[in-house]
Amino acid sequence: MKCPECGSLNDRVIESRPSTDGTSIRRRRECLDCGARFTSYEKVEEKTLMVQKRDKSYEPFDIRKLERGIRICTDKRQIDPEVVEELVHSIEQSIIKEAGSKRIITSSAIGEEALKELYKVDPVAYVRFASVYRSFSDVKQFVQEIEKIAQVVDSDKQN
Ligand SMILES: [Zn+2]
Repeated sequence: MKCPECGSLNDRVIESRPSTDGTSIRRRRECLDCGARFTSYEKVEEKTLMVQKRDKSYEPFDIRKLERGIRICTDKRQIDPEVVEELVHSIEQSIIKEAGSKRIITSSAIGEEALKELYKVDPVAYVRFASVYRSFSDVKQFVQEIEKIAQVVDSDKQN
């Protein structure tokens, strides 16, 4: 490994130690030419999660894109920012789980996972997100969705 001090490729490993969570190995190295000591980390290469879009093309999964969407939908809903953060995290976890070992997920499956989690947090944010992600083909579908939520809210009130 290239020495950060002199650029030499001759080094020896002084010490190897796994990180506490076991996901990486930390190695202390010593340059054989200048004697500088430096650290390298070894990690399992993770296969990128790919999203299959409606037009069947693929793009790498980007949680920030989804996060932006969630933030827009939860805007002015007075939801604790920490709750929104947790929400994004749990959506990400369920997407990774859903994608499985193939590491491929469809954009509509991402939308469904996000909707499932959003629904638990805020019905209005859920409808906002649903209207974008499912790109409702007609008004009727949209009204059905709102009525479904109204029923849930009503039954909550009765309890
Ligand atoms: Zn060196």
